[in-house]
Order: sequence, then structure tokens, then C-alpha cells
Amino acid sequence: MLCWNCNEPAHAVCHFCGRAVCKRHASKMPSFLVMYLGGKETPKGLAVANVIWCGICEPQPEPIEMPELY
Ligand SMILES: [Zn+2]
Ligand SMILES: [Zn+2]
Repeated sequence: MLCWNCNEPAHAVCHFCGRAVCKRHASKMPSFLVMYLGGKETPKGLAVANVIWCGICEPQPEPIEMPELY
């Protein structure tokens, strides 16, 4: 896979959007809160440190509204 930005061989994949990025273009998010449903439908939050970020996409901390889908 090649870097989205420069077409060099990629070293990582963006945690948020799946783009491939090389070391030069990969950024890191210090922490990010992942929400998921645990056992018994209990919402749980998980802090992930230093996830790979492509620097292009814009991860939203909250689900965004998509009224146009209705
Ligand atoms: Zn690159
Ligand atoms: Zn991304």
C-alpha cells in the first residue's frame, strides 16, 4: 500500500478513515475516546493513546447528525 499523500510505501493506516500513510505523513493523536457497547448493552469508553492519524480526515468526537439520510 502507498501513502495517500506522497505515494511512498506506507507504514501505517489511519485509525479513523483507513487511509495508508508513510512515517513522514502519519500523525498521532495523543488520545481518543472510543465509545462502544459492552456486555449487557452498557456503553463504555476506551481511551486510546497515540493512535495513527493521517492528518487529513477530521475525526469527530461525537456522532454527527445526518438529516439528509432521511
Ligand atoms: Zn507520505
Ligand atoms: Zn484519516
